[in-house]
Amino acid sequence: MQELTNDYLEEAIEDSRPYAANGDVNMNIPEYDETIKDHLGVSIITTNGECYAAGDTTQYVPMQSTSKIIGLMVALQDFGKDRVFQTVGMEPMGDFFNSISQLESYDTSKPFNPMINAGAIAVAALIKGKDVETRFERYMNFLRKITNHDQLEISEEVYKSEKANGARNRSLAYFMQSTGTLVTNVEEALDLYYRMNSVMMRCEDFARVGLFLAKGDYNPESDERLIPAHHLRTVKAIIMSSGMYNSSGHYAVEAGFPCKSGVSGSIIGTIPGNMGVGIVGPAIDEKGNSTAGGALIKKLSQDLELNMFGLENTDGR
Ligand code: GLU
Repeated sequence: MQELTNDYLEEAIEDSRPYAANGDVNMNIPEYDETIKDHLGVSIITTNGECYAAGDTTQYVPMQSTSKIIGLMVALQDFGKDRVFQTVGMEPMGDFFNSISQLESYDTSKPFNPMINAGAIAVAALIKGKDVETRFERYMNFLRKITNHDQLEISEEVYKSEKANGARNRSLAYFMQSTGTLVTNVEEALDLYYRMNSVMMRCEDFARVGLFLAKGDYNPESDERLIPAHHLRTVKAIIMSSGMYNSSGHYAVEAGFPCKSGVSGSIIGTIPGNMGVGIVGPAIDEKGNSTAGGALIKKLSQDLELNMFGLENTDGR
């Protein structure tokens, strides 16, 4: 097995970087342009506290869909599993992440899962608080604690852009209002969703979210218990089956550990009991996953033997 070192990660980055050519940068994100297309960075933090990093690790990018993990954790704390999954399903979906048709075609009462846009908006609608500011502050407090980074902030530019380009998400939300899935204020749920998407993080922050999921339910810096452990199990299972949009099955096979991507090219990976992985590689494929980041995830899985379903060379021969 390959030893995990910074030199190895540098090599893995250079092996994976050419895959950026197969993707495109999401130009709806302010500050994104062609010059960052082949940026690629990785941070890995082990449950023993060892930190490794390589590549372009200083770039702050919007959380985008990686925020769906955090929103789900906050809603699970607020309402528990049974109530949350009355509102949103837990099944993978083969359609694109912002699909409208699935809401009408399959089950008008709830979206497939919390990792697609409709599901995440429905989850955001659940998060407790007297107004959007309070609800978002609760989200940020939790995020700052699990990343041990109290400077994390929203980008107003990204937030404005999310709002300006939010027609599709508004359609999803109002459709869900019409079916009774969204029973709280629709515009507030959308506003919270846009804010959650717009929080800026770098590789290390993404890795710390993965580490929190891998390690457990306590604040990394204190003994404060942040969330019951069984909720983390639920979240990891949902990420495993639905975290990489409609390529989730592919990543379950090829990486074999839970990963969640965002259209900023961010990826959070979590290897239970072992490590958290944070990747930023802005060029994404048509499904929304970082092309170089996806190649890197698969390489790390193979070289570091991270596939939880067994290793390639242990096929029982
Ligand atoms: N912010 C975009 C949206 O809500 C993309 C989210 C994502 O999949 O990363 O449609």
